[in-house]
Amino acid sequence: MTELRLYDTMAREKRVFEPADPARVTMYVCGPTVYNRAHIGNARPAVVFDVLARLLRHLYGENSLIYARNVTDVDDKIIEAARAEGVDPSVITERYEEYYNEDMGALGVGLPTIAPHATHNIREMIALIARLIETGNAYEADGHVLFHVPSDSDYGALGRRDREAMIAGARVEVASYKKDPADFVLWKPSSEGVIGWESPWGRGRPGWHIECSAMIAAHLGETIDIHGGGLDLIFPHHENEIAQSRCANGAPLARYWVHNGFLSMAGDEKMSKSLGNVVLVGELLEQGHKGEILRFALLSAHYRQPLEWSESLIAQSRATLDRWYRAKATMEELLEPAAPQSVLNALGNDLNTPLALSELGDLAKKANQDRLLAAEFEKSGNANEAQRLKDRAAGIARQMQGGANLLGLLSVSSSTWFQGEGSARIDKYVTERVDARTAAKKRRDFAEADRIRAELAAEGIVLEDGPDGTIWRGA
Ligand SMILES: [Zn+2]
Repeated sequence: MTELRLYDTMAREKRVFEPADPARVTMYVCGPTVYNRAHIGNARPAVVFDVLARLLRHLYGENSLIYARNVTDVDDKIIEAARAEGVDPSVITERYEEYYNEDMGALGVGLPTIAPHATHNIREMIALIARLIETGNAYEADGHVLFHVPSDSDYGALGRRDREAMIAGARVEVASYKKDPADFVLWKPSSEGVIGWESPWGRGRPGWHIECSAMIAAHLGETIDIHGGGLDLIFPHHENEIAQSRCANGAPLARYWVHNGFLSMAGDEKMSKSLGNVVLVGELLEQGHKGEILRFALLSAHYRQPLEWSESLIAQSRATLDRWYRAKATMEELLEPAAPQSVLNALGNDLNTPLALSELGDLAKKANQDRLLAAEFEKSGNANEAQRLKDRAAGIARQMQGGANLLGLLSVSSSTWFQGEGSARIDKYVTERVDARTAAKKRRDFAEADRIRAELAAEGIVLEDGPDGTIWRGA
C-alpha cells in the first residue's frame, strides 16, 4: 500500500499518516463564511483538500472517509450584508452557499460527506460553552462569554507565537470586560432585530471559533484524524478551536494539522479588496476559462508553497491540458484506468501535486509520441506496426487517466474538451503554425519548417502534405 506522509503543522515535520480507525477516517476543513462570492484564493483550500479526500478514499476505500466542511452562516459580515440589502440573513447565506457550491463544483470539487451549518448546531455550541464555564476555562461578562486564555497552559502550541503577538492578534476583540487581553469571545449578545438565540447568558449568538469545536465533536468525534485549512487560520482560529476542545473534552482535537499556503497575485501583490485585484472564481468562469484549467493551475504549486496567480499560469495550464486531452483521445473511454504508482508515490509524499502533474505530463508525451508514430506507419502502409503503437498509446493514456482521476483532472472526454471554444482555439493555433511552416518552405527554410512540424507533433498534431496543401489531424 502506498504510504501517505503529511506535514503536520503541530509537529513541524512530515509524519506517516495513520488514522485512528482505517475504516472511518475523519477530516474536517474550515469552510466558507457565506456572504460574498469566492475568490480564487478561497478556491485553493477547497481544491487541495478535495485532492487529499480523493487520495484518502483511494487508500482506505470509497466509503471510509468522513469529510466535513462547515458552512459559517451566522457572522457579523453576514448580518451587515443582510442589513445593507434589507433582507433576512438567510437570504444572503442561502444565495452565497449556492454560489460557493456552484463555483467549487465547476473546479471539480466534490461536495464533502457532510456540510454542518452553524445555525443548525447552536444547541451543541451552548452546551460546549456551558461546559467550559464549568471547567473554569470561560467566564461570563457584560452579556458575553469569554474563553480565558491564561487558564489553558498549553495555549499557543500550534502557532508557537509569543504572548505579545497573540495579544496583538486578538486586538480586534479588546474590550473592557475582558479579564485578559488575549481572551476571546464564545458568545455575544444580539440586540433587538439582530439574529440571535436564547441562552443561559441571554439572547445572543456564537463567536466564530466555537462553531468548529462544537460541530467537530457532534459530527465526527472528540478527536479527528485531519484538521485542515489555510495558513491564515492557524492563529487565532485553530489555536482557539484547540483550546476550547481540549479544555472541554480532555482530548486533543486533531491528530494531524494540515495547512495550505497563500495565493498571491503576479508581481508579489496580496489579493485584496482595497487593491482592487480580487479575482472571483465566477468571473474567471464567465470569461470562458474552463474550471479544470483553473483547478490545474491551483495544483501546479505544492500546497504548502505560495502560489502566484497570473494570466500566464492560466495559459500554461490550458496548453498542458490540451496536450493531455490529445493523448487521452487515443484510449478507449470505457476501459477502467488504474493509477500509476509514480503518481500515487508523489501524492503520498505530502501531496506533491507538482511532481504528480509532471509524471502525468511524461505519460501524455509518450502517448502522443506513439500516436504520431502510428500515423507515420499508417501512411507508409505498415498497418501492423501502426496498430501496435496505437495500442501502446492507449495503454499509456489509460495510466495517465488513472492518475488524473486522483487529481480530479481529465474529467471529460477529449471530444467534449475540444468542443466549441476549445476547438476554435486549437484550429486557430494550428492554422497559424501551418501557415508559418508553408511560408518557411516557400523560402526554402526547411530547418524552420521541420522545427514547426516537430513542435506540433510533440502536441499530438500530425501534418500531412498533399497536392492541395497541408492538412492536419489532431485530437
Ligand atoms: Zn474552523
